[in-house]
Amino acid sequence: MYADAIIHSAAYTVFEKGAGKFPSIYTDEPYVAWGLAATIFGGVVLLCSHKYIRDKKHEIFLILHWIFVSVFIVGVWKHLESHNNNKWTYASIAVWAFDRAARFFRIFLAGVNAKADVKIYNNDVLKLKVDYSNIWGAKPGYHAYLSFLRIDSFWESHPFTFYRSPVPGEEKKLVFCIRKRNGMTKRLAATMEAQPNHSKRIPVLMDGPYGCTFPLEKFQTAVLIAGGIGVTSTFSYVERMKRSGSTRDQHVVFIWVIRNLSDIDWFRDEINYLLSDDSVDVRIFVTGMGQVSDSSSSSDEKYEEKTETSSLQSIRSKISYGKPDLDVVISDLIRSADINIGFLTCGPGGMNDNARASVAKHLGAGKAAVDYFEESFAW
Ligand SMILES: Cc1cc2nc3c(=O)[nH]c(=O)nc-3n(C[C@H](O)[C@H](O)[C@H](O)COP(=O)(O)OP(=O)(O)OC[C@H]3O[C@@H](n4cnc5c(N)ncnc54)[C@H](O)[C@@H]3O)c2cc1C
Repeated sequence: MYADAIIHSAAYTVFEKGAGKFPSIYTDEPYVAWGLAATIFGGVVLLCSHKYIRDKKHEIFLILHWIFVSVFIVGVWKHLESHNNNKWTYASIAVWAFDRAARFFRIFLAGVNAKADVKIYNNDVLKLKVDYSNIWGAKPGYHAYLSFLRIDSFWESHPFTFYRSPVPGEEKKLVFCIRKRNGMTKRLAATMEAQPNHSKRIPVLMDGPYGCTFPLEKFQTAVLIAGGIGVTSTFSYVERMKRSGSTRDQHVVFIWVIRNLSDIDWFRDEINYLLSDDSVDVRIFVTGMGQVSDSSSSSDEKYEEKTETSSLQSIRSKISYGKPDLDVVISDLIRSADINIGFLTCGPGGMNDNARASVAKHLGAGKAAVDYFEESFAW
């Protein structure tokens, strides 16, 4: 669209120059000046949407985006008004307005009085258990946009993956695990740190569900590989598979790579759920043994000392220390699969790249058909 606009503007500039009307046309015909403004602001929108700005200053990107798109739309409107040719502008605004209205409707469906029990672990990960309308249920791989009615960020909404709580009695709750970053998540983390027990019940607005589910339950061998917080996505699949009973007929391998043993704190209920029978092959890799986590003050050794040994005992046999050699793990799994094998990875970019490359490298190593799916918490 923008290339079209540039060609249109450049061609008309040359044409008007040839007719001797340049630059007086901008004052003689205000609609031309509006067209120029729209072309310039369209370009500004494009530049400000660069990944660098979205990554580094997401909120600034969002505010600038709103302002510049509004100016662009006004410019286009004024440019076309005199030609009575605004039907495309109406159509674009209609699509945008429908999207906004649909979002309000989804928030309304999820319940405007939804409440989240929030707890922060190791000043690093926030865990939310949300009571909502239950009009829609948790689907594997889906996410929702959360807004917290806070004075410093009520206008923000951020996407987070959810799953059904595996804790008995809490099946109607959605669970979100949120790693603290530098914006809204940091402010929410600071509020929770200041609470007694580091937890609080707060109102939340949920716009969702969005996403798609990969058909992992259809594979004889399903391998779910997660790095850090990416486990929210892989767990949403394995929770559904275990609940539906498909794990009894499948070979399900659940691999989770974490930096510190203390990461298990916020995911203990989920791991215990997976270990409640032996239908899922759970493998946890702790890569930063002995290192102090970015935000936690205790090393893994101290952590082990202070944690009830009994509660870590059942998990201990599933834990290996050091970085997994994903290439070897993936090659072994492909070689030993019979009919078909499906992989899902959700981790940092580099980890997803490695897993994808290994699956591609070993495609023909066994006799099973191989599929690969990927989730990423980035754009
Ligand atoms: C489909 C999807 C599912 C996700 N699921 C999870 C999850 O389960 N757990 C989890 O911890 N994180 C998840 N994320 C990432 C999460 O949305 C960001 O970490 C969060 O928005 C950061 O908020 P912040 O203001 O603290 O970020 P900042 O510190 O301001 O930015 C940190 C990073 O988050 C990105 N970001 C900031 N705001 C948004 C936004 N509104 N939308 C998208 N990205 C944004 C920035 O581009 C930057 O790369 C998911 C992202 C996507 C796209």
